[in-house]
Amino acid sequence: MDGMSASNDPTAWKPASLRNKLFIGGEWVDGIGGGTIDVINPHDGSVITAIAEATSADVDRAVEAAQKAFPAWSSMAAMDRGRLLLKLADRIEEEQAELGRLEALNTGHPFRDTQILDVPRTAVTYRYFGGMADKFEGSVIPVEAGFLNYLAREPVGVVGQIVPWNFPLMFTSWKMAPALAAGNCIVIKPSEITPLSTLRIAELMQEVGIPDGVVNVVPGYGHTAGARISEHPNIAKVAFTGSTATGRTVVKASAGNLKKLQLELGGKGANIVFEDATIPAAVGGSAFAIWHNQGQACIAGSRLMLHESIADAFMEKFIGLTESIRLGNPLDPATEMGPLTSKMHQQRVLDYCEVAREEGGDIVTGGAAPNDPALAAGCYVRPTIVRAKPADRVCQEEVFGPFVSVMTFKDDAEALEIANGTEYGLGSGLWTADLKRAHKLAGALHAGMVWINSYKRVNPGSPFGGVGQSGYGREMGFEAMREYTHPKSVWVNVDAQIPPYYPR
Ligand code: NDP
Repeated sequence: MDGMSASNDPTAWKPASLRNKLFIGGEWVDGIGGGTIDVINPHDGSVITAIAEATSADVDRAVEAAQKAFPAWSSMAAMDRGRLLLKLADRIEEEQAELGRLEALNTGHPFRDTQILDVPRTAVTYRYFGGMADKFEGSVIPVEAGFLNYLAREPVGVVGQIVPWNFPLMFTSWKMAPALAAGNCIVIKPSEITPLSTLRIAELMQEVGIPDGVVNVVPGYGHTAGARISEHPNIAKVAFTGSTATGRTVVKASAGNLKKLQLELGGKGANIVFEDATIPAAVGGSAFAIWHNQGQACIAGSRLMLHESIADAFMEKFIGLTESIRLGNPLDPATEMGPLTSKMHQQRVLDYCEVAREEGGDIVTGGAAPNDPALAAGCYVRPTIVRAKPADRVCQEEVFGPFVSVMTFKDDAEALEIANGTEYGLGSGLWTADLKRAHKLAGALHAGMVWINSYKRVNPGSPFGGVGQSGYGREMGFEAMREYTHPKSVWVNVDAQIPPYYPR
């Protein structure tokens, strides 16, 4: 499926076909309410397609389809479930270019990034959990003589998954792959802004033989479809990625049936560069930490903290690199930074530029949309570097865009105090040649993930998640399999002589 134009202009690419309905019980259907939602190309504001809108009644029928599929799926041999995920991983790799273009078109991710990051990471996640399906074991507990006590891991049932717009392809794999490997059925709500790659993955899932009803996709608004998933009495668990504020709403809505929850919320990543760091590596790594995906990442290194002795030298290189980043149409393979994902979000980031000015922050570069008329209709923001103070709003609140707040520190104690001085606790990085210092700080940082002399590494085997207002629960690795299963303790009296409790 390749809709590249005859001119071979990569920016003229259009998908040859698109799925734009709800996927429920293996059927492509309209929403019960009959509504549609326009999906917008963030590069130029054009409408890519209109998708069917899922409302709460559609969530209900998706849950019913998932409940129906659950007995067969959960009792299928784990190896066979795994085999289907492995086939899916292969298909995703075969579709790498097409999936990458679709993601670029809908989200604004540069196509180049989708080829080295989004699509390969998605495939590898399905492959990892495909391999995991028959290797995630229970255990035997050494209890008193004569008893066998074993712990089985059972799927939780129908799980609801709410995925935001920043990494739709990758984040759906992080949620769906472990849930399926563990034997759960899924009702997933991609963001209505970026549903296209999730719908395509559902199509591939059907093609490789994942049975109807095991995965149901209901793109719709958060306050309707999302809210219904959070409160639904027959959904046993919700995995949510999004803002801390919406995460709290999900927690409240889940109280009705005491759902199991997994929350991956915001972050304000501290990226700390010490005086003994290798500066070129730290500059490159810090640029990736914030500019990748236009800074729309919960783990973005959005607080850049520099030791005062190297701050000037670092900044000179960092500003130079930043100003050389090529903004443009995400479908162009030369583009290094695309548009933000929506007009609303572009405005939100531009508003933070105003906040920085009002707070007396020094905007070193950026701070506005680009002047280029070719980008005027899109959701672009120039990469923005602001010198600010730790208590400023731009150092405390998640901007979630190409916007980095720079601070200096004089010693390790001050670095730690600034780094731990927000309500968040997701990812942090540090750059130093001193391993003793590195490990000491890694232990002291209030964060679910710490990167030493790198930033933003992820791997399907390595648990991903935060502490504090960044949420709880973990994606990926064995931890994810635990999140998607219940432990069941079974006691067997093999040969126990139990004295009577009520001797008669
Ligand atoms: P939200 O938290 O509002 O949205 C995330 C997801 O939750 C979307 O799919 C959304 O649907 C859904 N949702 C919204 N309301 C509800 C609800 N009541 N019940 C269940 N689900 C709901 O984030 P925004 O998209 O509004 O972005 C705002 C800010 O949140 C960003 O600027 C960023 O700071 C942060 N954010 C963090 C993310 C992360 O990766 N941790 C991801 C996205 C945002 P809908 O799209 O229809 O609203």
